[in-house]
Amino acid sequence: MRDNPTLRRRTLLAAIAGAAAVPVVASPAWAALPKVYIDPGHGGTDPGAVGNGLQEKALTLDISLQLRSILLANWGVDVRMSRTTDITRSLAYRTDDANAWGANLLVSVHINSGGGTGFESYRYPTASGATVNLHNALHPRVIAAQRTIGSVTDRGLKTANFHMLREAAMPSVLTENLFIDTLADANLLKRADFITATARGHAQGIAAYLGLSTPNPPTFSVIVDNATAGRFTASTNWGTSSYSAQRYGADYRFANPTPASDAAWFKVNIPAAGNYRVEVRYPADAGYSSSAPHVVVTSAGNRTVNVDQRSNGGAWRSLGDFPLAAGDRNVVGVSRWTSATGYVVADAVRVTRV
Ligand SMILES: [Zn+2]
Repeated sequence: MRDNPTLRRRTLLAAIAGAAAVPVVASPAWAALPKVYIDPGHGGTDPGAVGNGLQEKALTLDISLQLRSILLANWGVDVRMSRTTDITRSLAYRTDDANAWGANLLVSVHINSGGGTGFESYRYPTASGATVNLHNALHPRVIAAQRTIGSVTDRGLKTANFHMLREAAMPSVLTENLFIDTLADANLLKRADFITATARGHAQGIAAYLGLSTPNPPTFSVIVDNATAGRFTASTNWGTSSYSAQRYGADYRFANPTPASDAAWFKVNIPAAGNYRVEVRYPADAGYSSSAPHVVVTSAGNRTVNVDQRSNGGAWRSLGDFPLAAGDRNVVGVSRWTSATGYVVADAVRVTRV
């Protein structure tokens, strides 16, 4: 839903001065980190567009918070937001805040309504060349990212006299991310992966405009505990214990060794193909296995590393660095198939991109 053009201060001042109403162009030579201003549309008493059980203000905040996280994780930028919670912000507050901060660019995130379908984006009709560059960098990257999840119509790059575009003293673009009142669009907006892809597309567009197209190595590290919902599976042959104080989390799982395929599995969502360090944590005890087989599912086949669970407990222990394919699947298995005596223990796994 678009902002109502209520204030015409810049236009009036420009008209009085006899000049075209164009935003002030920010210097491309960043004295420090580039300042990125993110504006999640609506909020608080203003829900924005609503439909199909969704509220625009919640979607724009979700996209914007993820956009901030992705930017900060991958590039050297400074980020400020007009809101980070469900609060009311006037349009004047938003542009005043961005202008006072000295943002180098502003992106306002919205969800459309009115019965159409697809993605469109806006700049001010007489915007600067820098704004056109921002618009050209942002639009195709957002829709390309969205299309990794589902079918999205490209409604094109447009111009409009919106407050957020007119009153921002820096390159400013407003995105309308699908139609909340169109069922197919709403079904995409309800998907977490679509929201994340939309945020990623915005981040890639901003980075490209700023000339930061080569990101830092993506950071990724995740811990999967035996109690992590949906990410650990083991048969009922595996008991649950909180006996050792060296455990990670509330408890851990254990089973007698046996010559049978009955592994406990840790499932990890690997974001991209690459090399990852795989570490395990377990409580150590004289009664546990001296050689517990750990199977790592790599892109070059399964690799087995035997772990002495009688020592070095209660700390992360590396199984090594492995090439892993992208995707969400079982990555580390703790096997019971060992001739060593003592309980085989499955407690927690950490996977970190290296
Ligand atoms: Zn809106």
